[in-house]
Amino acid sequence: MPLNNVTSVPNPGSRSNAVARIRGVLFDIDDTLVDLNSASIRGFHRMTEQDFGDLAPEDREHIAKDYADDGAGAYERYMSGELTFLGQRAERIRRAYGLAKLQAPEAEALGIWSAEYERTVRSMWEPYPDVHACLDSLDVMGIPYGAVSNNIESYQRDKLVLSGLERIAIVVGSDTAGAPKPDPRPFHEGCRLLGTKIRETLYVGDNPINDVQGAKSAGLQAVLINRAPNHMPSSSELLGSHTSLNSIISENLGFFG
Ligand SMILES: [Mg+2]
Repeated sequence: MPLNNVTSVPNPGSRSNAVARIRGVLFDIDDTLVDLNSASIRGFHRMTEQDFGDLAPEDREHIAKDYADDGAGAYERYMSGELTFLGQRAERIRRAYGLAKLQAPEAEALGIWSAEYERTVRSMWEPYPDVHACLDSLDVMGIPYGAVSNNIESYQRDKLVLSGLERIAIVVGSDTAGAPKPDPRPFHEGCRLLGTKIRETLYVGDNPINDVQGAKSAGLQAVLINRAPNHMPSSSELLGSHTSLNSIISENLGFFG
């Protein structure tokens, strides 16, 4: 479908450094499409109702947010291959109990905790409220879209389905791409599956380094979405960030409907 109302996007080739018209969009999943942070906090509270019952509510909230924001820095160690997925979760659980000055579950109990948490949090996965409207807009414009995520592809496909986002058929995981973002390979694999040129593909994500810097280094256009302004580090990079997918679509793809 031709784009009829793309008035804000320069004509490709009109000048040497012109921004290419966007013909495809790739999204990060966690905390861009799916509100993983809120689900993690609620799931953590449910799992620690008894063990953390004597803590002050503000302390419980602080620890839950630290867990959801990965204050342990364990996820990057998972991405680097240093920890398994369950290993990074164990690190986060141990840190949370440490912050609560409580003895963390050990060995078998830790595995049971993690499995029960997984079951709980899966039931809480939801898309952000603006996601379907954004995808509807892309469908109207005939712009193909997909997801490129730093986790196992099959796990992330399940996450999209459980979140009601099975309409996103193209999914690239760090396992199937051969490397996690910010490596260029997952971005390039996403473009290949979309059938779009790299420079004509927009990447949308919530992580300034893995998503925005990574996509730009790989040759894509990129924009940061700021889903949790209270949790994001202050950075000049964030000045250009957006707080809704609709604003990204309207400013970058010229959709005004
Ligand atoms: Mg993310």
